Amino acid sequence: MSNNKVTVATVWLDGCSGCHMSLIDMDERLIALASQIDVVYSPLVDNKTYPEMVDVALVEGAISSDEDLHKIKMIREHTKILVALGDCAVAGNVPSMRNPFSVKDIMDRAYIENVNVQPQWPDQIVPKLLPVVRPIHEVVKVDVFVQGCPPSADTIYYVLSELLAGRQPVLNTMTRPGA
Ligand code: SF4
Repeated sequence: MSNNKVTVATVWLDGCSGCHMSLIDMDERLIALASQIDVVYSPLVDNKTYPEMVDVALVEGAISSDEDLHKIKMIREHTKILVALGDCAVAGNVPSMRNPFSVKDIMDRAYIENVNVQPQWPDQIVPKLLPVVRPIHEVVKVDVFVQGCPPSADTIYYVLSELLAGRQPVLNTMTRPGA
């Protein structure tokens, strides 16, 4: 914790950002939360360096690239409570629809077949794809699983409120895949 506030990170791996949109949909409840939490790392804030230790990380998206893999391992090492936020993080969901195809076929389709000008595979900036997309729990330990595509703002608020109260959120009847 810093300044007696719970430190929170939000992370965007291979997802569509819809889970982050749902997070923002908490609207005025974000103001209430602001008195209890410090957002120390997120696509939504300026700080792009992950702190030495974070209390809670909400992670959107699946593990699709070598960059995602490196990032989730780093985050696990520097996070007390890791939350898999949304179906992509929990189960692979949309990004894993590429799993029946080879990386070569996918890259050819994206960068050769559908391109009119200078068709070629990128050799820099774009992270290298892993052979298959994996949900987070197949790579590192996950402490809280939040289903939904995206999880509702109410669900995310409940999860954060329970964690702030020092309780494990009970989500069995609150969430289901795709809803
Ligand atoms: Fe987007 Fe749904 Fe994946 Fe969230 S779970 S990142 S809303 S596709």
